[in-house]
Amino acid sequence: MSASLKNKSVIVTGASKGIGKGIARVFAAHGAKVLLVARTATEGEAAAAELRAAGGTAAFCPADVATRAGVELMAATAVSLHGGIDVLCANAGAFPALKLAEMTEEAWDGIFATNVKSMFLSIQACLPHLKQSTAPRVVVTSSITGPITGFPGWSHYGATKAAQLGFIRTAAIELARDRITINAVLPGNILTEALVGLGPAYIEATAACIPLGKLGSVEDIGHAAAFLASAEAGYITGQTLVVDGGQILPESPAALTA
Ligand code: NAP
Repeated sequence: MSASLKNKSVIVTGASKGIGKGIARVFAAHGAKVLLVARTATEGEAAAAELRAAGGTAAFCPADVATRAGVELMAATAVSLHGGIDVLCANAGAFPALKLAEMTEEAWDGIFATNVKSMFLSIQACLPHLKQSTAPRVVVTSSITGPITGFPGWSHYGATKAAQLGFIRTAAIELARDRITINAVLPGNILTEALVGLGPAYIEATAACIPLGKLGSVEDIGHAAAFLASAEAGYITGQTLVVDGGQILPESPAALTA
């Protein structure tokens, strides 16, 4: 797998921190040329510098991927810096909590723009360049929340994450004509900076609900994305890969102690 990713041009959206940064780190470790994308330049530049300091090839492009101008800049930057686009990891996303009774149209539209429209726009902007690649891949970061589970405050978020899966099933058929595969990773609870910020009590309580007894690392999601982008995964398309330490399995809390 590592050999097949060497020198590939990889875009990771939402890569200034959290899961996207972990995905970028794993691809860089496999020898890929990685373009990290986010809106906040200070964090994004620092993340790319970290990967370069570890011996990787990485650059940062400041762009809002929920806009046409942003994704066009992103695709053009990858082509000019890294000579094309082989892999797009459409990972950028947000998960503000808001209960259904208080939901506003602005909040609803905003989360769909950040989580779903950004994915569609990113793929469309990269498409002409992916078609030129010998092994073109798209990997989407969805979630267990929405497609499989629910949590109060995240009805709109869950709807976006399920929408991504509806999208990839038809996109897979359309993109197959150009040999492009598209698959989704569904993370469970992953130890990002944001989750660490919620404090040790939250982390401990969440870990207690997970059969493998701990939250996932951002690299756990990176490894899954790297596999789906590898030569070995070339015959997999339109599929989903849950990476959650078994979190979705227990029928009730009793299943973890029985
Ligand atoms: P995070 O730590 O908040 O990072 C989000 C990243 O996306 C940041 O780099 C952010 O940078 C970027 N971003 C947000 N909106 C953007 C936009 N419009 N244009 C460009 N970049 C944008 O979040 P995370 O936890 O890593 O989540 C990443 C993905 O994993 C999301 O799709 C989320 O739904 C999914 N996920 C996360 C978990 C978890 O446990 N953390 C679980 C399941 C699924 P800027 O704000 O500077 O743009």
